[in-house]
Amino acid sequence: MRIAFIGLGNMGAPMAQNLKKAGHDVVGFDLAAKPEGIEMADTAAAACEGADVAITMLPNGAILRSVAAEIIPALPEGAIFIDCSTVDVESARDVAEDVTAAGLKALDAPVSGGIGGATAGTLTFMIGGDEDAFGQAKPLFDIMGQKAVHCGPSGNGQAAKICNNMILGVTMIATCEAFALADKLGLDRQAMFDVVSTSSGYSWSLNAYCPAPGVGPKSPADNGYAPGFAAELMLKDLRLAQQAAESADADTPMGQAAAALYETFVETEGGKGMDFSAMLPRFEKRGRG
Ligand code: NAD
Repeated sequence: MRIAFIGLGNMGAPMAQNLKKAGHDVVGFDLAAKPEGIEMADTAAAACEGADVAITMLPNGAILRSVAAEIIPALPEGAIFIDCSTVDVESARDVAEDVTAAGLKALDAPVSGGIGGATAGTLTFMIGGDEDAFGQAKPLFDIMGQKAVHCGPSGNGQAAKICNNMILGVTMIATCEAFALADKLGLDRQAMFDVVSTSSGYSWSLNAYCPAPGVGPKSPADNGYAPGFAAELMLKDLRLAQQAAESADADTPMGQAAAALYETFVETEGGKGMDFSAMLPRFEKRGRG
């Protein structure tokens, strides 16, 4: 397939490289990045000329809207527009409407799995939009990832993503505060891990991404909390969840508390640029007052 790939940053570059390696004809566009091995066009619209598929991997909904406005008129009829960025549900649905109105097919397909998953081609895709378009794009998801779940109509992929990441933010905070409490109670970290990872407190945050250095599988905690998944990206996703909860009138007190804690951590406590699991040293430094 002829694929236009717009947004070749930390995630987009390895995703595009995997598509190229699999034999697809990939033309990229990015305002700043110039990834190795990818032919680059001068504009997003030029990258889309003659493309069967356009994939975007951009920072936020406002940028997605502006790129969509530029590339929709440039794509040939019947092309599929796949947005893999994490954005608000409203932007995803508005862009899908514009795409469909122009005679194109739209999928919102945010991912889980981070830069490691993007590089290894083991991302999980959660997809909203037309089922036939999903079927057509499935071979591409299978190259870039290990699982692609169709979640329903446009916007539902983003809905799944922000619900997942709200759980992730909340469980990471719960895991970090429990480790800090365990330390203060004189409980050995390894014993804490051995018990909780096989008891009812287990979670991905503890079992697969343990925030305590030297305990459990290798994680950013073992690398001075270099990200991994940066605290500011977690804050972005928690804010999207709160924005969605507001518009859907959903009660999400734990998500709200997690968003507030990450906001303080990122904006006033030096958490920017650190992995989101660096909540553990933050809790360790604090007492109750
Ligand atoms: P990034 O900042 O590394 O990459 C974004 C790229 O978009 C940059 O190279 C930037 O130059 C480019 N860009 C910005 N505006 C543009 C425009 N108008 N036209 C063309 N290019 C433009 O970010 P990332 O880590 O690759 O994340 C991309 C998306 O994936 C985000 O929505 C993020 O929330 C999501 N995501 C990231 C991770 C992760 O671990 N990094 C995991 C899952 C999802």
